[in-house]
Amino acid sequence: MTLLIVGAGLSGAVIARKSAEKGYYCRVIDSRPHIAGNCHTQRDAGTGVMMHVYGPHIFHTDDADVWAYANRFAEFVPFLNRVKTTAQGAVYSLPVNLHTINQFFGRTMGPDEARAFIDSKADRSIENPRTFEEQALRFVGRELYEAFFKGYTEKQWGCLPSELPASILKRLPLRFNYDDNYFAHRFQGIPRDGYTAMVSAILDHPRITVELETAYNPAMAEAADHVFWSGPLDGFFDYRLGRLGYRTLDFERFTHDGDYQGCAVMNYGDPDVPWTRITEHKHFSPWENHQGSICYREYSRPAGDEDIPYYPIRLVKEKSLLARYVDLARAQDKTTFVGRLGTYRYLDMDVTIREALDTAAAFVASQTGGQAMPAFMVEP
Ligand SMILES: Cc1cc2nc3c(=O)[nH]c(=O)nc-3n(C[C@H](O)[C@H](O)[C@H](O)COP(=O)(O)OP(=O)(O)OC[C@H]3O[C@@H](n4cnc5c(N)ncnc54)[C@H](O)[C@@H]3O)c2cc1C
Repeated sequence: MTLLIVGAGLSGAVIARKSAEKGYYCRVIDSRPHIAGNCHTQRDAGTGVMMHVYGPHIFHTDDADVWAYANRFAEFVPFLNRVKTTAQGAVYSLPVNLHTINQFFGRTMGPDEARAFIDSKADRSIENPRTFEEQALRFVGRELYEAFFKGYTEKQWGCLPSELPASILKRLPLRFNYDDNYFAHRFQGIPRDGYTAMVSAILDHPRITVELETAYNPAMAEAADHVFWSGPLDGFFDYRLGRLGYRTLDFERFTHDGDYQGCAVMNYGDPDVPWTRITEHKHFSPWENHQGSICYREYSRPAGDEDIPYYPIRLVKEKSLLARYVDLARAQDKTTFVGRLGTYRYLDMDVTIREALDTAAAFVASQTGGQAMPAFMVEP
């Protein structure tokens, strides 16, 4: 049997590999001139710095099987993301932790004292927070909200936090200790040779062929026994019901001789600074030494038709359109929609790998059991 896999990102690569190992022939196509999708890394010719071309990627997971799988195809170097933010004329540590709180309020509080102090700042008059803003005011109070959450959220989502649902801020976003490790996962690292080398190793199998700069056309599906689609869900249907809303990112690249900011990620929380953050790529490979440096100033805006879709918006309007596309997808035969674009969800790399492994396993089981493969393995 031959499978057509649209997209050579992590979703497509992992599904191809697992299926190939079970004896299926996999034709992987991608419209871009490179593999690895949004995780693509590439060495800059001038400085030698490993660039995270579509924005910074740190691998982090609690899933031991996924971690073992990733390590089968790449050597990972431990990496902890320690993010800083420039806000109101000072530099602070993120996520907001005891150091941030003490520095911001000019205090030397211990954890219990700080907890009581923040409690006194929190707006308890808001009983049932309906919006992101109300939720933040209720959890952290106005000063921390305005310094660390409000401006950043406005820039990232292009709307006021009072227009976003409370569900975006599910838990108390503060730490009452000095833990500044951004991700709370057991396994964290970055592949020594970049993500593209990892994806290349995943795709390196005699039953997998990869065709780049090759966009999907429906005739390709006719020659395949099953299709796995990791492109945009609405794109599969030529956007016939309209476009699912996304935010896109603009990266303004600049170079610097030496070390520009001393860390990989510096957020900018003030509303009058138009970018959300600056990433300095050589700090994602601290085991390397480069004199030159490349940074990205990152701006967020609504995605136009020709832009790369980055973050699905998933508010009420988008969800109702999504439901209509899901109905169309379910009416297809022999096509399964996967990955961040195929299911219109934000997915970290570990979740992407987990879902791809599960999808391929379900496909193989469906073939042996003679059942039809569903359009979605995970509800979009
Ligand atoms: C700015 C940013 C930062 C991120 N940082 C992290 C991080 O630190 N840690 C983490 O775990 N995750 C991170 N992620 C998430 C990570 O990028 C995703 O988990 C991963 O890219 C999902 O892989 P995918 O294969 O599903 O999608 P993609 O990587 O988008 O791959 C889909 C591929 O399909 C191709 N395609 C689309 N349409 C067609 C078509 N019609 N014909 C042919 N090919 C097509 C595309 O060219 C693309 O290569 C980040 C995401 C963003 C946006």
